[in-house]
Amino acid sequence: VSSVKIGNVEVVSILDQAFAFPYGAAYPGVPEAAWQPYKSIYPKCWNSEGAWATNAQVFLVRSGGQNVLVDMGLGPEQQGGPGGQLRANLEAAGVAPGDVNIVVFTHLHYDHAGWAVVGGQPFCPNARHLAPEADWAQVGNTGALFPAKGALDPIQSSGHLELTSGEKSVTPELTIIPTPGHTPGHQSLLIVSAGQRGIILGDVFNHPAQANETDWNAGFDFDQDLARQTRRRVMERLEQDGSVVASGHYPAPGFGRLVREGGRRIFKEL
Ligand SMILES: [Zn+2]
Repeated sequence: VSSVKIGNVEVVSILDQAFAFPYGAAYPGVPEAAWQPYKSIYPKCWNSEGAWATNAQVFLVRSGGQNVLVDMGLGPEQQGGPGGQLRANLEAAGVAPGDVNIVVFTHLHYDHAGWAVVGGQPFCPNARHLAPEADWAQVGNTGALFPAKGALDPIQSSGHLELTSGEKSVTPELTIIPTPGHTPGHQSLLIVSAGQRGIILGDVFNHPAQANETDWNAGFDFDQDLARQTRRRVMERLEQDGSVVASGHYPAPGFGRLVREGGRRIFKEL
């Protein structure tokens, strides 16, 4: 179990599943040669076949006695592999699904909502589920990587769904802020506690090279221009304020800070 403290808040990185994606498919607009300098900066992001090595990992945030789970991974049955490990790794962190008080979805892509409903029931049966309203409207749009129509309905029918838009306080130390573009309702979770700052970024960047190359889009950014604008704005601010950044797609545990090195803005692992 790997965790960081941000003031009085603890953030625990929980791996669901590692996976890989061909660079050309994930970033169709980025020429292969442009990645070259980043291979030595982020060697963990290339596997032995030269594909993008990435993770579906989620973050357990402990704030004021509340267990807040941010995102829900690829899910228990995925892509012919052994399936996601969220349940086992959450329990290894001492938290049963029923102990989760609040689920925050940064967005509703299938790789962030895979465990939301298991066996027709919410995986976290006692949790308020805070999901972006603009993404809820996309459920069923599987071509844009959202879950199948009806897949998340048990969250709503069991009375656990709260749709979000704009800023929303989750606990006195945790605030949802809008970071749209990757999906229409994409949101991040800001942590401010005892003078320290952190952010759970969601997919404002998928690959850490995008901290510097803010104009590089993943092919699955829903609104490419808005994703670029948001990325530029957020990365500039995080470089300035020195926040701890938690990235769900960076190889585990995914904690770092944005610092300037060699003329580039770099995601430097903690
Ligand atoms: Zn993602």
